[in-house]
Amino acid sequence: MILDQLSVLVAIGFSSASLGMTFLMMWAIGRSETHLLIWATGLALIVAGVIVFSTVVENYSSGLLLTSFLFLIGGFGFLHAGCARFCTGQTNWVSTAVAVALALIPTSIAFALGYSGIGTMIGNIAIGALLMLIARHYWLARAESRLLMTANALCCIATAASFIACGYALAVQGQIILTSRPANWAEEINSIMAIAGLTGIGALSLTLNQMRIANRHKSDAMRDALTGLLNRRALFDGRMGIAPSGTAVVMMDLDYFKTINDRFGHDSGDRILMAFADVIHSNIRAIDLAARMGGEEFCIIMPDAGPKASAAVADRIRTQIEATTVQTENGPVRATVSAGIAVRSVEPETLQALLSRADAALYEAKASGRNRVQISGFSLAA
Ligand code: GH3
Ligand code: MG
Ligand code: MG
Repeated sequence: MILDQLSVLVAIGFSSASLGMTFLMMWAIGRSETHLLIWATGLALIVAGVIVFSTVVENYSSGLLLTSFLFLIGGFGFLHAGCARFCTGQTNWVSTAVAVALALIPTSIAFALGYSGIGTMIGNIAIGALLMLIARHYWLARAESRLLMTANALCCIATAASFIACGYALAVQGQIILTSRPANWAEEINSIMAIAGLTGIGALSLTLNQMRIANRHKSDAMRDALTGLLNRRALFDGRMGIAPSGTAVVMMDLDYFKTINDRFGHDSGDRILMAFADVIHSNIRAIDLAARMGGEEFCIIMPDAGPKASAAVADRIRTQIEATTVQTENGPVRATVSAGIAVRSVEPETLQALLSRADAALYEAKASGRNRVQISGFSLAA
């Protein structure tokens, strides 16, 4: 025996408890990330299982050994439910309950029949299987972060293998009935893997969780809350240099919007803005970018568009807005929109320069009567 089993168990217990407390505190901050609470519950059960198992080290009792397996299987079941929620957004309690029942029932039956060795084999293999199910969740979700999800899946597989090895080692020894706690090479590897694997899975999961929060904040900071379109900052993000040739910029502004607000109220104005954003969204391609520049002014950047295609899109949006009626508490509201377009010339031009030209064209569209599309350098009256 290279390792002092009791010390190793104390280490597993404390590392799992610390991890569980961390998950619990992180959950308590927002109370919306339910997977953190489910993980904390799973780790609490695992800690209970480890405490019970440590009593078996000194004084063997098959009843206590079974009890520790019940806690451990329940704990890993909760970890599985938390992972399902974290990776897919849904907790499938039925599939978790079935997996846990399939693990608990045969383990308990073997112990009840007096075959504590067989029960221990089944219990270990069942925990390994639960860990493999957790690994599968991380593996299937690897599109979110190839490195972290794959590393998490590998940690789960390595820990699962160490549990399955415990069952295998007992089977090789032919220990159908135990008279003392299981002690073999696989148990020693499993003790180390329980510390390394659980800590690794916990640390990687926390990192993934933080990464997801950071990405959400970044995405929120890039979007306009009312319309869901990009905001001005996002539109310029990484596009400060020369605009690629063929880029078209469409600036659009609702006509007499102040009057609409004054007559129908600010809420009705907001609903017009949302309807306008929907019309824009349904008329652009996946490669186009649409942003709310502020107030009732919107911008579309269209790569590889040219004057004809961009003018066609802008005019389609214009006619659809004209035909849209928004029902409000103060009656039906209709609006029109003016647009200015600038297409990158042969000369290199920055996005900022294109925007200024599109703005000037928009000003012309307003000056020449509104509800029309004006291309910088051309005229395309409604
Ligand atoms: P023009 O045809 O020349 O564009 O006239 P306009 O009335 O549309 O332009 P103006 O710039 O005078 O007024 C814009 C109005 O847009 C004023 C402001 O109260 C309103 N506005 C800006 N942001 C919002 C918003 O988020 N919600 C609502 N409801 N109104 C907004
Ligand atoms: Mg306006
Ligand atoms: Mg305006």
